This record gives sequence, structure tokens and C-alpha cells, in this order.
Amino acid sequence: MRVGVPKEIKNHEYRVGLTPASVREFAARGHEVFVQSGAGASIGLADEHYAAAGATLLKDAAEVCARAEMIVKVKEPQPAECAMLREGQILYTYLHLAPDPEQTDALLRSGAICIAYETITGPQGGLPLLAPMSEVAGRMSIQAGAAHLEKSKGGMGVLLGGVPGVEPAHVLIIGAGVVGTHALQMAVGLGARVTVLDKNVERLRQLDLVFGNRIKTLYSSAQALEEKVLESDLVIGGVLIPGAAAPKLVTRPMVRCMKKGAVLVDVAIDQGGCFETSHATTHAEPTFVVDDVVHYCVANMPGAVARTSTFALNNATIGHGLALADLGWQQAMRESPHLKAGLNVAAGKVTCAPVAAALNLPM
Ligand code: NAD
Repeated sequence: MRVGVPKEIKNHEYRVGLTPASVREFAARGHEVFVQSGAGASIGLADEHYAAAGATLLKDAAEVCARAEMIVKVKEPQPAECAMLREGQILYTYLHLAPDPEQTDALLRSGAICIAYETITGPQGGLPLLAPMSEVAGRMSIQAGAAHLEKSKGGMGVLLGGVPGVEPAHVLIIGAGVVGTHALQMAVGLGARVTVLDKNVERLRQLDLVFGNRIKTLYSSAQALEEKVLESDLVIGGVLIPGAAAPKLVTRPMVRCMKKGAVLVDVAIDQGGCFETSHATTHAEPTFVVDDVVHYCVANMPGAVARTSTFALNNATIGHGLALADLGWQQAMRESPHLKAGLNVAAGKVTCAPVAAALNLPM
């Protein structure tokens, strides 16, 4: 199959659909890969690396799209990119169609076969092509939180791990899913005092088995939340109720009573945030202060570490990508119901029930 990798054009998007190592996998199976010149340059993946892996470098995205039978990307296609798609061409990328009627309409009109990373399921349940970005955001949340506890960033001037003879910081993690677990690992590694809250006791049980008495686990009741938020120096919000807006678990009155210079990192901000006082921010201006509490609410945290995120994403997407190229989309989906769950739009029809329901479109 002829596979195309255009450079991402969304504002501040530096990730790339295929790394040179992934290109090599496609090339080894006899597929032809076309990469737009400069697609990975800003994260150290130079044209020469792609050429050495077997790719053909092309000058612009239009040429890549014209030659490719399958386009591999990272972000949802922008209007100019949708206009380049053609009937029967495969698009393999994040789409997030439910809140985006314009993009859906453009993809329907293109006649392309559009496969969304975020709805591909895994044999163990969950959404394995979304998980790597939660892993990145979870780990980053502690890094960002620790930095903002410093005085120069508006924090109270506390070192996460303390030093011998001085107490470490208190870190509260709300939600023990992918984000929460990776945040927990980082916070424990830095020597913080960590409490994790979830409503899923089985999840807490698993964490207790792994981390033992290095962490405290608590069932997420309003009472436990209120008590723990008030004594914490850093609070990480990583809750998710699938398909719904994040619940506002930390209220304005709770924030008002927190320690001055404490830090909140609302990772769940892409679902509306789990702190009542949150609003989305960007990497250019990541924080704001409410009642002397620093809020970090960046909606696309993995974008800041685009190189790591690109490699993590490729690890998750390469398997199905190769199957699509080897077998064609119809046979690959007959062989994998999990890949089939990723099909959002095919030949002018919406094929994903939640997207159809959200946009009130027929299937
Ligand atoms: P997940 O499903 O793995 O985990 C969510 C956890 O929240 C579950 O364990 C669930 O039981 C728990 N939960 C639900 N209600 C709760 C409550 N009332 N109290 C305590 N815990 C509760 O989800 P995830 O992959 O960890 O993602 C978490 C959030 O982070 C999602 O909104 C996701 O979109 C977001 N996210 C944001 C970024 C970013 O850049 N800001 C990046 C990746 C993921």
C-alpha cells in the first residue's frame, strides 16, 4: 500500500504520524511511504532519518495526499486537509468527531474511510490508542505541579520530596485511572506524601498491592475530598466519567480554604475540568491564580513533550496501521473487532454510534 505522512498544520502541533522506525516497519513489508519534507524536523526527526528508513520525501502535503492510499496523522484534519481527501482513501488519526459537526460534514463529503484512534478498543477493554497520552499527561502533571510550587511560579515555595529533617509535600491525586496511576508513580518517585482517591475500590486495591504503605488510598466521598484537599500542597485532577463532562469535585468554597500558594493541576480540563474554578489554558500561559491557589489547566499537555508523545503514540498505532496496509481496511476490520470500533466515517456515512448520536446523524 502507498502510505502518506503529511506535516501537522494545527497550531503548535509538533507531533508526527510516523517515526522513522515506524516507516522502516512499513517499508520492510513492501509498502511505499511518502513523508512531507520537514514533517518531524522540530522534534529531531530529520528528513535524512526518514530517507534512511525507506521513505520518499515530498515537498508538500497535497503531493503526499495525492500519492497515498492511506494517510497517517496525529490531529484531526483541518479544513484544508479535509479538502485533499478523496473517495476510498483511508485516514488514520485522532478525529474527536462528536463535538465537531463541521469536520464530520467535510469527512462525509470526502467519501474517505476515516478511522479514529480514540475509539479503537483493546482486548483488555479501555482505549489503548488514547492511553499513551494519558500516561504522558499523568507523568507531566507532577513535573508541572512541582515546578509551580516554586516561589517564582506563584507557589508556596515547597520542594516536593522535602529534605532529611523537613516534611515532603502532600500530594492528592483524584482519580486512579491511567492519568492518576502515572502521576502517582512520579510523585512517589520524588518522595512526596501521596494520597489517591477513587470511587473504584478495585482500582485502589490494585494500587495498594503495588505501592503498599508508600501511598494512602481513600474512597472518593465528598467528606474525604474536602478533608484531603485542605491539607494538600498539590492536587492532581484525573477523573473521567466516559462520555460525560468531568464532575466538579473541588468546589469554589474548598479552593478558598486551601493553603495559600497550593497548586491544582486539572488534567481533566479537556472534559471541562474537575475543579469548579478551572478554565482551559495553553502552554504559552499555563496558569492563573484563584484565591491564592495556582491553577494549571493546559488542555493538550502532551503537546509540550511532542517527541516523547510521538514515540508513545507510534507504539500504540503501529500494529493496526500495519494491518490496514497489509490487508486493506475491510479485511483488517473483519479480523479485528477492536480496529472496527475505530471506524467513524466510511464512504459518506457515519459508522460510529456515539458520534451519530451526538451529532443527530443517521448511521
Ligand atoms: P481513566 O478512565 O483511566 O481514569 C479515570 C478514573 O476516574 C477512573 O479510575 C474512575 O473510577 C475515576 N473517577 C470517576 N469519578 C470519580 C470520582 N467522583 N472521584 C474519584 N475518581 C473518580 O481516564 P484517564 O485516561 O486517566 O483520563 C483522565 C482525564 O484526563 C480524562 O478527562 C482525559 O480526557 C484527560 N486527559 C487530559 C489530557 C490533557 O492534556 N489535559 C491528556 C490526557 C488525558
